[in-house]
Amino acid sequence: MTTVAAYAAPSAKAPLERTTIERREVREFDVLIDIKFAGICHSDIHQAREGWGEAIFPMVPGHEIAGVVTEVGPGVTKFAVGDRVGVGCLVDSCRECDNCKAGLEQYCTGGSVGTYNAIGKDGEPTYGGYAEKIVVDENYVVRIPDGLALDVAAPLLCAGITTYSPLRHWNAGPGKKVAVLGMGGLGHMGVKIAHALGAEVTVLSQSLRKKDDGLKLGAAHYYATSDPKTFEELAGTFDLILSTVSAPLDLDAYLALLRTDGAFVNVGAPEEPVALNLFSVIGGRKTLAGSGIGGIQETQEMLDFCAEHGLGAEIELISASEINDAYERVLASDVRYRFVIDTATI
Ligand code: NAP
Ligand code: ZN
Ligand code: ZN
Repeated sequence: MTTVAAYAAPSAKAPLERTTIERREVREFDVLIDIKFAGICHSDIHQAREGWGEAIFPMVPGHEIAGVVTEVGPGVTKFAVGDRVGVGCLVDSCRECDNCKAGLEQYCTGGSVGTYNAIGKDGEPTYGGYAEKIVVDENYVVRIPDGLALDVAAPLLCAGITTYSPLRHWNAGPGKKVAVLGMGGLGHMGVKIAHALGAEVTVLSQSLRKKDDGLKLGAAHYYATSDPKTFEELAGTFDLILSTVSAPLDLDAYLALLRTDGAFVNVGAPEEPVALNLFSVIGGRKTLAGSGIGGIQETQEMLDFCAEHGLGAEIELISASEINDAYERVLASDVRYRFVIDTATI
């Protein structure tokens, strides 16, 4: 075991604080990663505050990890010391179910292991990226292309793949009108990626405060959802709406913005259930769907795509002592557009 410094929530009601955790010894197929940067995802906050239900404490959140390999186990073939690598939301899965075999480890039916707030196959709790180092099986590690700086690459490991995967699956591309709902960490990557895929992108945000940024990131249009006229003007417009909103929404109002056969795809994970009038999908043969992160191979594909198109996240780099303040700013929709922790400050 190796003792490493980390930031942890001791309980659901307490702020995060500096502590130490134990990382396992490097096993045959493991890589030891010196973590350089860790993004703050809204999911970290939902979990650290038990918004999604009972959680495991102490909790070291962080599933947007970028770093450098410093040691490899004897069986490792994919990585070598010095490689620039990333780790996202999963550090293991059953490897045998149909989904694992199809590269859809995020939908593993045999039991996947989250990067934190989970119990590993060895029975030990997993701890995430707000730490100096992490040990991960090489099959759950991806390569960060040279063209991407590690700080702006870190958020791609969750925000990037969670938007890339559904945008690809629902064929965002030339000739398609795509709306991105919510312009936070996921949303701003959704705008960049949908634009790079060739779609005509509209941002639907609570206000017009971030309009200039949205247009710079690749949106052609930007509307405020606080303005009722938005819903009149955009009725029946979109082929695809990607919702990244972290709070319950009026789904019926947004489904009315889809054209016939359009899809509303939800990646936001609010803590409360939402209501739906099923007539909202009957008329116009509409689809209401969800999507969770992405598989390991698709995460690599997304990183390669982002490097090719020069897409990193827009970040505010913070020191570890600023994590609790950053959480409050995320909760207030005051993030431009992802907080990233410089782990050298832990
Ligand atoms: P974030 O940075 O806080 O962005 C969420 C955005 O939603 C905000 O910036 C805001 O955008 C909008 N929003 C927030 N509260 C709202 C409200 N009450 N009404 C309307 N809009 C509101 O969070 P994130 O890190 O991008 O994560 C977004 C959600 O996705 C979270 O619930 C997270 O847990 C979830 N998530 C899911 C997956 C998955 O695999 N499905 C993966 C990662 C994260 P505007 O200011 O533009 O309105
Ligand atoms: Zn996340
Ligand atoms: Zn599986």
